[in-house]
Amino acid sequence: MHDDRKLVEERIDRMLRERIAPAVYAARIPLELAAWHVPGEPVPLEEALAATYEPFAAGTRWGRPWSTTWLRATGTVPGEWLGRRVEAVFDLGFVGDWPGGQAEALVYDLSGDPIKGLEPQNQYVPVTGPQVGLMLEMAANPDILADGFLPTPLGDLATAGDEPLYRFAHADLAVLDEEVWHLRLDLEVLRELMAELPQAEPRRHEILRALERALDVLDIHDVSGTASQARAHLAAVLASPAHASAHTISGVGHAHIDSAWLWPIRETQRKNARTFANVTALARDYPEFVFAGPQAQQYAWVKQRWPEIFDRIREAVKGGQWVPVGGMWVEADGNLPGGEALARQLVHGKRFFAEEFGVECRGVWLPDSFGYTAAYPQIARLAGMDWFLTQKISWNQTNKFPHHTFWWEGIDGTRIFTHFPPADTYNGTFAGSELAHAVRNYAEKGAGTRSLLPFGHGDGGGGPTREMLERARRLRDLEGSPRVVVQPPDAFFAAAREELPDAAVWSGELYLELHRATYTSQARTKAGNRRSESLLREAELWAATAAVHAGFAYPYDELDRLWKVVLLHQFHDILPGSSIAWVHKEAEATYARVHAELEEIITAATTALAGTGTTPWVFNTAPQPVESVPGGGMARLETLPEPGAPVTVEGTTLDNGLVRVVIDGDGLLASVRDLVAGREVLAPGTRGNLLQLHADFPNQWDAWDIDAHYRRQRTDLTHADSVTVVSRGPLAGAVRVERSFGASRVTQTVTVRAGSPSIEIATEIDWHERQKILKAAFPLDVHADRSAAEIQYGHVHRPTHTNTSWDAARFEISCHRWIHVGEPGYGVAIANDATYGHDVTRTTRQDCGTTTTARLSLVRAPQSPDPEADQGRHRMTYALVPGASIAEAVDAGYALNLPARVVSGGAGPVPEPLVSLDGRAARIEAVKLADDASGDVVVRVYESLGGRAATRLRASFPITEVTVTDLLERPLGETLAADADGSVPIGLRPFQILTLRLRRR
Ligand SMILES: [Zn+2]
Repeated sequence: MHDDRKLVEERIDRMLRERIAPAVYAARIPLELAAWHVPGEPVPLEEALAATYEPFAAGTRWGRPWSTTWLRATGTVPGEWLGRRVEAVFDLGFVGDWPGGQAEALVYDLSGDPIKGLEPQNQYVPVTGPQVGLMLEMAANPDILADGFLPTPLGDLATAGDEPLYRFAHADLAVLDEEVWHLRLDLEVLRELMAELPQAEPRRHEILRALERALDVLDIHDVSGTASQARAHLAAVLASPAHASAHTISGVGHAHIDSAWLWPIRETQRKNARTFANVTALARDYPEFVFAGPQAQQYAWVKQRWPEIFDRIREAVKGGQWVPVGGMWVEADGNLPGGEALARQLVHGKRFFAEEFGVECRGVWLPDSFGYTAAYPQIARLAGMDWFLTQKISWNQTNKFPHHTFWWEGIDGTRIFTHFPPADTYNGTFAGSELAHAVRNYAEKGAGTRSLLPFGHGDGGGGPTREMLERARRLRDLEGSPRVVVQPPDAFFAAAREELPDAAVWSGELYLELHRATYTSQARTKAGNRRSESLLREAELWAATAAVHAGFAYPYDELDRLWKVVLLHQFHDILPGSSIAWVHKEAEATYARVHAELEEIITAATTALAGTGTTPWVFNTAPQPVESVPGGGMARLETLPEPGAPVTVEGTTLDNGLVRVVIDGDGLLASVRDLVAGREVLAPGTRGNLLQLHADFPNQWDAWDIDAHYRRQRTDLTHADSVTVVSRGPLAGAVRVERSFGASRVTQTVTVRAGSPSIEIATEIDWHERQKILKAAFPLDVHADRSAAEIQYGHVHRPTHTNTSWDAARFEISCHRWIHVGEPGYGVAIANDATYGHDVTRTTRQDCGTTTTARLSLVRAPQSPDPEADQGRHRMTYALVPGASIAEAVDAGYALNLPARVVSGGAGPVPEPLVSLDGRAARIEAVKLADDASGDVVVRVYESLGGRAATRLRASFPITEVTVTDLLERPLGETLAADADGSVPIGLRPFQILTLRLRRR
């Protein structure tokens, strides 16, 4: 037989494109249009309904960036269309089919009831009666990444300009020719399947010839009249069942909507309304449809602003078609949120879904966050989660992750059943290529038979479409294709776990070999988050202490609200620094307000405890004693002993008997002598706190990525404008160093305090560089095989060598409040109060000694998507702690982030800490009153050293019962008994997190 395959394939493609697709709508008449252009930001519906509308026509240019235009569309369905499927069809001027940065609209009826969204790939509104009246709230969202990662002014209302972005294409009443529509879907599904089948397979040729026969009977001049005949020729190939060994794909309807990214938060809210309206409409038409919606925050917005849509969601949840998933407040970044914040993401997310829908979420749903902390398995399990889903690790640039279904083991040994959809997308469409890729890619073939595929257009693309569900129907049981079943994620995970109970184990963090600059970009947003987390801890501790000891009214509602604001900003494009200028400007302003409100709560609570007067009281929020003030407790300043030997300052050498720090004429640390250990901390011939400037121009993804080649261009900032002693002891010695380079300035104050080996470096940067990164380097005379970095409720080790491609790819690492490098018997910690990005490398010197260099990534200057990212002023403090053990690193991290507060108070009795623990292995991470307002005190503790801890909990109030709870403060069935002295003995395994609920007498 002659081989004409290519010719037939080309014929199919042209027919689809030029004859069949245009025939899907059989007849069209234009709708009558009138428009009102909102002068400023979006307005409430009532205001729009009451506005004055002007005539508007197809072809009109509309929409300055970020503006809103309301469109009224009216018309009458012609009598001859009676009994046919009529739709209103709109093209707002869509550009291509990219769903994110585009024009979009929410369609209401004339009474203001929201009906459905309009997006590039979802342009219809069903018409039910003869008279049509619709209101469109059209958003002129600009396409920020239209030109790739080039700087654009469009991401900020102040610089976006007034030039209209779109040309309105059409608004029509149209008849949907269902037979042609189905023909198109039949052809597409078979054409795409055929393309994935091997040339040698008979099935491929059977499909080809069936398609050819269908086209042979299709009249190009009467597609509508011959579509049925054409479909008849496809029935047999569509009915042929899947192979016995066919892979099964569990399709889960989804719409990944970034809570802010290339648009501001206010636009996310409208994206939610549009997409959620689409989903509930689709659920009515397709009974088998199941949609998984994460991010409680987005539901909360819709509940408040579009209650009609929220009611429909409630109905769909009841009917099993809408499944709240993830159990988090937002899809947070997977590395940067602190332990307590990550716990609260799950607490507030799960609680919202339980209270609103009676649903207990069973899995973590984080398809898009940029790597995942090794603390996750335990935190998730303690929130009652059984499974974990992401696909982002498929974006690795270097190493291919070996599993798709596996047990993920965290730092404490807890395991959680985990799945990466092998389709490598969270915006599935059931395209043939996507399904075939999933099958080819699935790593557990031979042991497992199934995978999950989230399908639906994200980011304002409107979610799943009816075409996707039609495809799923055709793919249920089709020869040559994987089987497709649409089902809730819990059903998939139950089936996957049943067939793979002994799946492989991956231990430790899920490091994303990409997007490593998200530990550093938009440093002010990151500093705002860290400070918020610290202030929330302080506010809860002192409010709880004051409530128990001074009758203070615990601010439940305020803390609940403030937590949720902070949790929202941990979304995986806000905290990582990958959003437009608008988002980050707003985030900085929001953090300032949050900090002010938390300071008010703290002031009220500490005043309630200290009383009024002029006596200075010291409040120590850190869990360990600081300068003789008990952890989580307070003291009167005048009763405190002297902190230790005084600091002496000679020239620019600072000495407190524990360390001697020599600052040279360049303002660098020329020597750091540990006087207790009797050794020099810095490597021979090196200087510490060396600021290093690198060119930082990644191949793509500017705000997200730092590429390994950045290291090869470096300028050491060795010139100081001035080096000045600013404090001469006895309590503190300090030297200020000023440097300028380019248009930027850095002022650093190096401080040594009496009684502490810690060398604090308070840093102010006025930053005006472009596409550069600034690092602070400490070359240490330490032989460290690995670094330890604080993560949520513990720490993680990473090698300092680059033996394998996996080690080499981790050239930039994230950490929370401290990083530590050491050799047996000696270690050094570096604590920080606002920095997350670090790197640790090592070199061998001529004397065969090892120099381990730890660096902090202080600030970057990417230009996309925010061309002004990180420009301007920054403040941060870091501290070098010579001779530090891991326990002392933990201390240093707390001390720097939770500095003691001095408050004017009275002469009354000083209360004991509300709760405390013996020893240094177990730490208290949170103290609060129970969220149920019962008055119970909730304490979250963890083992911080990676070993076993035997400790005692002591409370300064009478306890009747101590209950072990999950993160949501729900009892887990275990109670702890107090000894005769009232203390409660506690045993913790390595890195165990334990939540205790203390009932007060
Ligand atoms: Zn995302």
